[in-house]
Amino acid sequence: MSTLESYIPIVGASTIDELSLLADRLRGVSVQNINSTAVGGGVAEILTRMIPLLKDLGVDARWDVIKGDEKFFEVTKKMHNALHGVDVAITQAEYEAFLDVTRSNAADIQFGDIVFVHDPQPIGLIEHRPDLSSRWVWRCHVDFSRPDPAVWSFLELFLRSYDCAVFSAPAFARQLPIPQVLIPPSIDPLSDKNRDLPDDVVDAVFNRFLIDRSRPVVTQISRFDYLKDPLGVIKAYRLAKKRVDFQLVLAGGGATDDPEGPTLMRQVQEEANKDPDIFVLFLPPASDIEINALQRGSTVILQKSLREGFGLTVAEALWKGKPTIAGAVGGIPLQITHKYSGILTTSIEGTAHWIRQLIQEPRYAEGLGRNGHEHIQNNFLITRHLKDYLLTFLSLTRREDIVYL
Ligand code: UDP
Repeated sequence: MSTLESYIPIVGASTIDELSLLADRLRGVSVQNINSTAVGGGVAEILTRMIPLLKDLGVDARWDVIKGDEKFFEVTKKMHNALHGVDVAITQAEYEAFLDVTRSNAADIQFGDIVFVHDPQPIGLIEHRPDLSSRWVWRCHVDFSRPDPAVWSFLELFLRSYDCAVFSAPAFARQLPIPQVLIPPSIDPLSDKNRDLPDDVVDAVFNRFLIDRSRPVVTQISRFDYLKDPLGVIKAYRLAKKRVDFQLVLAGGGATDDPEGPTLMRQVQEEANKDPDIFVLFLPPASDIEINALQRGSTVILQKSLREGFGLTVAEALWKGKPTIAGAVGGIPLQITHKYSGILTTSIEGTAHWIRQLIQEPRYAEGLGRNGHEHIQNNFLITRHLKDYLLTFLSLTRREDIVYL
């Protein structure tokens, strides 16, 4: 079976036929993705799964990762935080460092017919667009609803030159002089991170990390990022633990474009050292089976983000039918309808309350998980995402480049 055919049992043959039909019209058009990290975080996760499927469909899909030094990624992380509404100041020298790195990357990259630029880090490459025949799309994965005005003005200067912008959720769309498309992200049900796992594999992972599966386990999988609020998760754990017995797992790694990870991880470890029921696990890249097993074997999944892009970890948990408690931010409310397909929270106390409830009421929790799974099946699988991208690419392709069969 080809890679795409293996999705037929999950999404049906007509979905795959439709994808082939659309992809056929893009023969000979190169689609080049550019982002800032090959591993860690949702963007890399999606591209890793998406590029082989596009190739399987016959699309000339490519993926380049920009290179940057420590200073560059410090600036881009500041931009990321500022776009998420955190109060940060970026100096003129920092903006210049950003432009220098952009310039040196532009010299190294061979641009394709459609250039699909992900997030703010590579946004400035548009200034080095070799000719006007290529089409440039800016794909924004971050929550853009309350951006810092100074950072927004800086980015908007580049954004105006793009042919189109893609946002993940209606709340992130902005007043722009270019067309905008709304395309939520997706998960791949056949990846190692999401496919079914035999129970003995789940057991083996829990045993390896010395977590006791005979007691309830509440887990958050995330990069160590302040906006994912792991310290708030520990506070919620302490409150809930007064009334119900459970273990807490905080598992995650870093991303090469996120310099804040190691400091926060140390702070989380210091907090956790005081309690044998808190497990802080550092996950190296390619820990997909471990993440899958931790999600499947947990009683409840948390994603207590304070700000969020889409929040792929929520979709991953819901796909596995897990009762999920998550911050009502970014794209998370697109995935969870409160008390129907999961629980939305806005505070430490609320999170603690719902941890207790879901552990103590497993039937109710199971119902939430079932509804959550169905919602992901209907809306957030990679085949829907592929179709949206193919349609966007086709809408940007010049008439004379489209292949009519
Ligand atoms: N992830 C991972 N390893 C980690 C932490 C997270 O592979 O140590 C994955 C996680 O399973 C999900 C993605 O990275 O697929 C995170 O995407 P999300 O949208 O939740 O957050 P982001 O990190 O992009 O802000």
